Amino acid sequence: MKWSKYFSPTIKEIPADAQVASHQLMLRAGLIAQECAGIYYWLPQGLKVLRNIMRIVQEEQDKAGFNEILIPTLQPTDLWQESNRYDGYGKEMLRIKDRHDRELIYGPTAEEAVTDIFRRYVKSYKDLPMVLYQIQWKFRDEIRPRFGVMRGREFLMKDGYSFDISEEAARETYRKVMKTYIAIFQRIGLQAMPVRADTGPIGGDLSHEFLIVAETGESTIYYDKAFDDLKLDGSDDDLDKLMAIYSATDELHDAESCSIPIEQLRYKKGIEIGHIFYFGDKYSKTMNAKVMDESGKLSAVYSGSYGIGVSRMVAAIIEASHDEHGIVWPESVAPFQFGLLNLKIAHEQTTKLCEDIYACFQKENKTILYDDRKEGAGAKFSDMDLIGLPWQIIVGPKNAEENKVELKNRKTGERAVISVEGLYERFLQG
Ligand code: ATP
Ligand code: MG
Repeated sequence: MKWSKYFSPTIKEIPADAQVASHQLMLRAGLIAQECAGIYYWLPQGLKVLRNIMRIVQEEQDKAGFNEILIPTLQPTDLWQESNRYDGYGKEMLRIKDRHDRELIYGPTAEEAVTDIFRRYVKSYKDLPMVLYQIQWKFRDEIRPRFGVMRGREFLMKDGYSFDISEEAARETYRKVMKTYIAIFQRIGLQAMPVRADTGPIGGDLSHEFLIVAETGESTIYYDKAFDDLKLDGSDDDLDKLMAIYSATDELHDAESCSIPIEQLRYKKGIEIGHIFYFGDKYSKTMNAKVMDESGKLSAVYSGSYGIGVSRMVAAIIEASHDEHGIVWPESVAPFQFGLLNLKIAHEQTTKLCEDIYACFQKENKTILYDDRKEGAGAKFSDMDLIGLPWQIIVGPKNAEENKVELKNRKTGERAVISVEGLYERFLQG
């Protein structure tokens, strides 16, 4: 992509209405723009990041054998009346009337809709366990939307729902989902901590929130400092390692009964990026979702629901990974892997070399943003740092004359002048 043709508006000034770093940087880097309170336009670069996160979430869910579906944003109210949640949900639920005066709601979550799909098709224990998931926009009319997409009113969520024949099997599925979460957060480059949590209005008796430690988080967590040194290696034991470490939200933490000595305890702010619940037969009973068990009896199924805040995660990643110059994207979610800076468009050799590099990287499907704008070098440096692509390939007249470029790693700040051949060797196959 050539920046001269790319819709990627950057802003120098810190937007006055943005209080936290991620919100400021998302506006300044041109990832999002506000439509109205708590609702945002996603601009090209922001959308790329959102899609990269979605892809990782999908790949890890699919790998575990979960089935992706898509539930409309609009849901009929009768399902919510059937589950007895219609009246209780309160003002966060956006209620809409159609031309026939029939009420619809913009889904804040989808337990009812998924249970409805399940009960239509699944009649036997032989089809279990089953996990259905979707990535869909949700609406919650938050009383205080803030921090940009961190707490929006319309936001993108991955929501999954599991169905099992027994409580024991359901708890096993719960663990399996947790493992996919650990894999997802690791791939995204986030050190997320599963924290024992309150089950809240959804009910049930087993729940974990996944948090990343960040000053700007709205949750407070207590945890064993061992977490800070924990190394996960992607093996099957990762979950056990994590679960062995004490952690609790402030509602659940109890100084009296806390199992670790006080000097080992840390108290920090965190951002909730995922939340999972086991709630048993709560919905399957009220909504009559039953299957035949092994002995031929009808039995209600045991369920859990599993959320990940996909759009919130864009902000959370930035909170965890930025510096005074801008965003520092982990490679797995970066909008482009490479930024190519032409420091002097008018210089023939510089522009020729940039065009060559751009063509070679494109040929091998490397994602590269070529800054071919008629801006000065200073503006290009600061814009490229601001948008935070992992690698910068900097081409100026002096190096270009010797067929050399400067390669900069955004994260470490390391720079090296290397030959163009060296550049190709490092990043390209052919
Ligand atoms: P919170 O405690 O932050 O209000 P919640 O407990 O109401 O969240 P869940 O119902 O558990 O949220 O939703 C699953 C995930 O969706 C959350 O872990 C969070 O990452 C994300 N999420 C929830 N509400 C919002 C919101 N208003 N804006 C952006 N993401 C959200
Ligand atoms: Mg929650």
